[in-house]
Amino acid sequence: MDPTPPHPPPVTRRQFLRDGTRVAAMTGLGGLVGVLAARSTAATTVWQIDPSKCLRCDRCATDCVLEQSAVKCVHAHAICGYCQLCTGYFVPEPSDLNTAAENQLCPTAAIKRTFVEDPYYEYVIDEKLCIGCAKCVEGCNRFGNGSLFLQIRHDRCVNCNECSIAKVCPGDAFRRVPVQHPYLLKTMSH
Ligand code: SF4
Ligand code: SF4
Ligand code: SF4
Repeated sequence: MDPTPPHPPPVTRRQFLRDGTRVAAMTGLGGLVGVLAARSTAATTVWQIDPSKCLRCDRCATDCVLEQSAVKCVHAHAICGYCQLCTGYFVPEPSDLNTAAENQLCPTAAIKRTFVEDPYYEYVIDEKLCIGCAKCVEGCNRFGNGSLFLQIRHDRCVNCNECSIAKVCPGDAFRRVPVQHPYLLKTMSH
C-alpha cells in the first residue's frame, strides 16, 4: 500500500485562496472605516448603496459630485464561483477567454484576472481604475453568482447632505446607514 498521503482535493486549495483573499478584502475595508470615523465626528450617518436594490444602471459613474465617482465595485470573493468564463469580466461571446482588451467588459480594464488552478480564475478590482459603471455587476448578476456589487467608498465620499446619485437612482438603492457600519456587504447568506 502506498504510504504517501493523497493530495488534498483541489477544492481545499481553492478554499484556502478564497478565505485568504476574503480576509485581505475585509481588512482593507476596516482600514477605510477608520479613515471615515476619524474625519466624520459630526456625522452619525452616511450614504450607502443597498446591493439588493441596485438596478446596475450607469448613474453611479456619472452623477457623483466628485470628478471620479466615490462609488466603486467591490468583490465578495466568498461567494464568487471563480469561473473560467466570468460574465462580469468577459464581453458576451468573447473571441477567446484571455485578457485581450477586446474581450474585457470593463471599460477601464479595472478587473485583474489571475489563474488559480484548472478551471478556476480569481478576479480582483483595481479601485484606482474603477469608475463605478456597474457593467461588471450587471454581467455577474445576470449569469453568475452576483459576487460583484457597488459600494460608496468612504475614503472618497464627502457625505453630501443630499447625495446627487441618490436623487436619480432608479432603484431607490441609496440609504443612510450608521457611521459605525458604513458598508452593506454581500455575504454567503445574502
Ligand atoms: S444609480 Fe442606483 S441603480 Fe444605478 S448603478 Fe447606482 S445604485 Fe445601482
Ligand atoms: S466594469 Fe465598471 S464597475 Fe466594474 S470594475 Fe470596471 S469600471 Fe468598475
Ligand atoms: S454623497 Fe456626494 S460624494 Fe458621496 S456618493 Fe453621493 S454625490 Fe458622491
